[in-house]
Amino acid sequence: MKHQRRILLLHAAQLAAAGALGGAGVACARVPDAAYPFSLGVASGSPLPDSVILWTRILADPLNAAATLPVAVSVRWEVAEDEAFRRLAAKGSATALPALAHSVHVDVKGLQPGRWYWYRFMLGEAVSPVGRTRTAPAPGEMPALLKLAVASCQHWEFGSYAAHRHIAAAAPDLVAFVGDYIYEWGPYRLSHPLKPVRSDESLTLAQYRARYAQYKSDRDLQAAHQAAPWIVTWDDHEVANDYTSDVDPRGSPGFLARRAAAYQAFYEHMPLRLPALTDYAKLSITQRYDWGALARFHVLDDRQYRAHHACNTSSVSRSACPELDDPARTMLGGDQEAWLAQGLKNSKARWNVIVQQTLMASTGRDKVWTDGWDGYPAARSRLFETLAASNAANPVVVSGDVHSFFASDLRRDVKRPVSRTNPIVAAEFCGTSVTSSSRPQPRTQAMVDANPHILYGRSDHRGFILMALTPAGTSASFIGLDDVHNAASGSATLAAFKVDAGRAGIEKL
Ligand code: FE
Ligand code: CA
Repeated sequence: MKHQRRILLLHAAQLAAAGALGGAGVACARVPDAAYPFSLGVASGSPLPDSVILWTRILADPLNAAATLPVAVSVRWEVAEDEAFRRLAAKGSATALPALAHSVHVDVKGLQPGRWYWYRFMLGEAVSPVGRTRTAPAPGEMPALLKLAVASCQHWEFGSYAAHRHIAAAAPDLVAFVGDYIYEWGPYRLSHPLKPVRSDESLTLAQYRARYAQYKSDRDLQAAHQAAPWIVTWDDHEVANDYTSDVDPRGSPGFLARRAAAYQAFYEHMPLRLPALTDYAKLSITQRYDWGALARFHVLDDRQYRAHHACNTSSVSRSACPELDDPARTMLGGDQEAWLAQGLKNSKARWNVIVQQTLMASTGRDKVWTDGWDGYPAARSRLFETLAASNAANPVVVSGDVHSFFASDLRRDVKRPVSRTNPIVAAEFCGTSVTSSSRPQPRTQAMVDANPHILYGRSDHRGFILMALTPAGTSASFIGLDDVHNAASGSATLAAFKVDAGRAGIEKL
């Protein structure tokens, strides 16, 4: 297995040391007897027609990494065709290395396309929770339905993860997480009363790891991971608030070293394939997934390669900052722009889903929030031209970051009004946060009222999007929680929309 081999090469010296310790290559289980080593649950993701990544992390105590000894351990894994594990499809063992926080990434190969599997890990007597996952359909296959959940922004201190319980209950085929899986910063005055855990800001690898472990200790989040494979990208808070490529807004020295630590911790806790580049400072998470002939997912990273904020500020009046319109300013970077253009151009999929972080629809305001796509107007126009020129079928953008639901028709020329001569290049469904707070609804409604291309906006509920992609159409339901502070909260569909295949434009259902 290529991926496992790469890990072994990366950490050959450490493995040699472990071999000297354990004799048979790695030491056996060394977690304390009483401690359950799968306290963070399991996950799967990055599905291909014949392969999926299985994930776990050996950690005896989510809030105390020192409770797990710093030695390599050998973890067994099984993949079965049935929940009772009577028909095994694959099994093996993997090495959990201290250098990777005892995370385990198994790239299981040789699976059948388009079917569900169950998986688990074993260490000594301990057996992990059972996760359910699936492979992508075979190339060219046209599945009747793909149920996709879209989630983002789960600030621990702002509420429960009830949204994840509802995602698990919806039994999606796939979950797309579009950023702010953790929030890196320090003490917060608006603490969710039941769950104050830490007050430090994540700056080092150990601190980022501790934060992922804390977040992943939540049972509802674990349930959503156990329900389906995930595809993931990051936003700013996986590293630092509103950072742009190699700087944070505070201009902190040593930022690239901090970013490398944050990127490594992200990899360690996500069901991702390790790309060819193993320098974590430049970890590439740009990915593409085909779901048979039904959908192609273009998963973007709009943080690592973007230009710095225009006029070096977070908010500026358009007229006061001509730099905003500088065509040299990029959001995706030249390589990723070219990669996306190519992937759209050669796509044969019925739906082209652009999975990315930030609201793409123009908010039409003179006062520009420079961190969003409004702060990168030339890059956005280039993307819209690329979409139009590619002839890729039925583009749909999914987004997060703004902690609000929005449904928008993205039109080719942002500056021109809604009209027949200004064609729609994509539908955008932006999801609200799992927990993170937002602004009052009247301000959101005022933005909707001022922008005819924005059909709907809702900032007064936390939740997620549940989409159904079929050959004939795609629907998106905006699911809102009744009360984010209540882990047992119910949820309701606040609004639902559809796009018919072959006809651009969102309709409210
Ligand atoms: Fe956020
Ligand atoms: Ca964000």
